[in-house]
Amino acid sequence: MIDHSALAVARFVDQNGGIASRATLLRAGASPRSIERARQAKLIMSERRGLYASAAADLDQRRAVRMGGLVGCISALRRSGVWAGLDTRLHVHVPAGSKRLRVDEVAAVGRDRSTSRSDTSFLAEAGAPRVHWQRSVNRIPFGRDCGTTDWIVPPLLALRQAVLCQDEEHAIASIDSALRTRFIAHGQLDLLFETLPSRLRRLRRELDPLADSGTESIFRVRLRRLGHVVELQRAVPGSSKFDALVDDVVAVDLDSKRWHSDDRQQIWDYDKTLQSIAWGRPVIRILPHHLFEYWPETLQAIERAVDDARKLRRYRQGRPKSARF
Ligand SMILES: [Zn+2]
Repeated sequence: MIDHSALAVARFVDQNGGIASRATLLRAGASPRSIERARQAKLIMSERRGLYASAAADLDQRRAVRMGGLVGCISALRRSGVWAGLDTRLHVHVPAGSKRLRVDEVAAVGRDRSTSRSDTSFLAEAGAPRVHWQRSVNRIPFGRDCGTTDWIVPPLLALRQAVLCQDEEHAIASIDSALRTRFIAHGQLDLLFETLPSRLRRLRRELDPLADSGTESIFRVRLRRLGHVVELQRAVPGSSKFDALVDDVVAVDLDSKRWHSDDRQQIWDYDKTLQSIAWGRPVIRILPHHLFEYWPETLQAIERAVDDARKLRRYRQGRPKSARF
């Protein structure tokens, strides 16, 4: 029969996110004997010296701690539904000076490449993780206030790593997303930018909390950098909002299969498109692959539509009122 105290240990490991250190367990009141009983009963297993996992731990967590590191950077963001770019490797934070990393060992395990990823399954690819050797950033609290640090880096530090690790447009999208999902508090932005290299501080001017998704942030950054005026979440009179309005003349929706696959949403999208055209604003709908794989062609289409719509508007405005249509 399984000992009650062993069950309590396993439950605590679950509550800690699936992995807990021996020090954390002892601090929570577990005895060395109850930890050993939980291990013998296979309620928890030792992943590395002094680190135990319950059945709730997933492959990413196990791989990170087996290496002697923590789930960090974009892998930590992705677990909380924050925009984490397109890199699907596991990103692991390893304190500077760590020894005996078992990179080869963890590279051999991981999600089977034939398993398709989905919006709800974020497990990293198999293969060598991206290792972030990092000195502690003293000003960013790395302690109990941030929740567990037995297997994952605290939110603000993860976001800082992700900003440094990604290109600028994905970095901006991650910060927008972290604010929108309350992964970090708005008040923590000062600290984030103070601890970033000065070359990246100008990115703060490009944040926009209205962005509803990572793709929306990236679209906005690209077009604004080209000199276009991009207003986010602009409503069409009598209908719902478009993701973006470019130069006041062309509406753009950035669709994803996740949000636009059900019948009701599709009907809504058709209605909205008709409403917008009736108001004299052409509509362009794009999918993530247009943004990430066919951007030159997509940009050409958008700029052509914007140019034509501007000319048409100027033409109408130049005509006597009676002749307008
Ligand atoms: Zn990274």
